[in-house]
Amino acid sequence: MSRTIFEKGANGRSGNFLPANDCPVDDLGFAHRREGEIGLPRIGEQDLIRHYVELASKNYHIDKGMYPLGSCTMKYNPVINEEVASLGGFAGLHPLQSEDDVQGALELMYELESDLCEICGMSAFSLQPVAGAHGELAGMMIARDWFRRRGEERKTVLVPDSAHGTNPASVVICGFTPKTIPSNEAGLIDPEVLKQEAGDDTAVLMLTLPNTLGLFEKDIEKIIRIVHDALLEQAEKGIVDYPDYLFDVGALVYMDGANMNALMGIVKPGSIGIDIMHLNLHKTFSTPHGGGGPGAGPVGVLEHLAGLLPVPRVVKKDGRFSLKETSGESIGRVHPWFGNFNVFVKAYAYIKALGGEGLLEVSENAIINANYLMKKVARDYDIKYPGRCMHEFVASGRNLKKFGVKTVDVAKRLLDYGLHAPTVYFPLIVEEALMIEPVETEKKEALDHFADVMAKIAKEAEENPEILHEAPVTTPVRRLDEVAAARCPELSWSGGECLPMEE
Ligand SMILES: *Cc1c(COP(=O)(O)O)cnc(C)c1O
Repeated sequence: MSRTIFEKGANGRSGNFLPANDCPVDDLGFAHRREGEIGLPRIGEQDLIRHYVELASKNYHIDKGMYPLGSCTMKYNPVINEEVASLGGFAGLHPLQSEDDVQGALELMYELESDLCEICGMSAFSLQPVAGAHGELAGMMIARDWFRRRGEERKTVLVPDSAHGTNPASVVICGFTPKTIPSNEAGLIDPEVLKQEAGDDTAVLMLTLPNTLGLFEKDIEKIIRIVHDALLEQAEKGIVDYPDYLFDVGALVYMDGANMNALMGIVKPGSIGIDIMHLNLHKTFSTPHGGGGPGAGPVGVLEHLAGLLPVPRVVKKDGRFSLKETSGESIGRVHPWFGNFNVFVKAYAYIKALGGEGLLEVSENAIINANYLMKKVARDYDIKYPGRCMHEFVASGRNLKKFGVKTVDVAKRLLDYGLHAPTVYFPLIVEEALMIEPVETEKKEALDHFADVMAKIAKEAEENPEILHEAPVTTPVRRLDEVAAARCPELSWSGGECLPMEE
């Protein structure tokens, strides 16, 4: 096992050569002076570089190979966008600089917001949320306040069982109660079932589109109608009072648009009546992710909800950009400052470089790749919903159960062949699920290779299942005890201490 960077060092070694301090130090005041050693690694420059190269070579990453992790959109992001984001004029900004100093940055945010509105058909976006789930929470808060302002305490949010796991979680954190809508045998929402479930207490339908099976709701227009009507009935009975322009807006429809890479240039959510949505800039719009950030989950709304968006918002007046800090209706801040600005720069560069045609091509390629791969994988694995998919599909390892092989074994064996595993055991409505998103940036040869390896593994399951139970055998770390990995993390060479088990 590797040693940590602390264990590799030795006293007196150093990787930097700072000039001696030539300022008087006495004035700093002894009260604030550190007493002991700071405890940084003592390591030379070459060993430092070797340390990180060693770690990188042990890791699997998008620069090493394909990453078919369903729902996560782990794709190649053009390096030029990293360059752009690290330009001094962007990277060196401070949030407390005066507005006059940062007109360019504000203009970029303003333009990005308007591009996102154009792509999604929404009226306004707030760039502030820093993750997809954070955008969901902000969106739910907007819905909650919208009803409160009308003196209504609606409690229920309808969530299809094909929604992303963060959806019901956001619902609960916002104080709503989720109610599950079961999918039909095609993996879609059945409008008749929805009609029965939507009622007086329904605040929002929160759906993931495409859903986590990679399917587009073919009855989406009917679905939105039903949800909007749930409130319209109230308006007609005089229970709630709406301005005329709202008369075709009922209970609200929230769309989880984290996987907008399937829809760009094809569907504008706002134009079909989606009231609130979020995007994941760190999936669709060129920020590498995984490992915790930084991300951006802009939340977008139609006109009737625009005043509720988080503040501050960039406004333009007489050619000058400024930050509007307050709005009587706003749900307030959901993050310090403005969100993750460098993610905005990358998204902006990506959108401007590709243009409308380019973004459409991104989505078309994501869909073509997923359908191509689905057909190939279907030769050796079950596909519960074999119709046309969008950017991803869900296969199942249940046909290998007769050999005593599970989906987890398939996933581990993929690592031996130098591939990252797909998302496994999600969505929950598919037994032994393998959720595969090839993404638009992979070429045909890479898809063929993945399908070939999947076929090989299916054959191994039949002929030599033991090897699958032992997999992975070629990785730096073999099969982990996943519970112990969380409970007893080994963070140093000499082994770790177990965290106490919770009841
Ligand atoms: C990734 C994802 C999310 C959550 O995004 P985070 O940035 O990880 O919070 C929500 N919904 C869907 C459909 C996703 O794919």
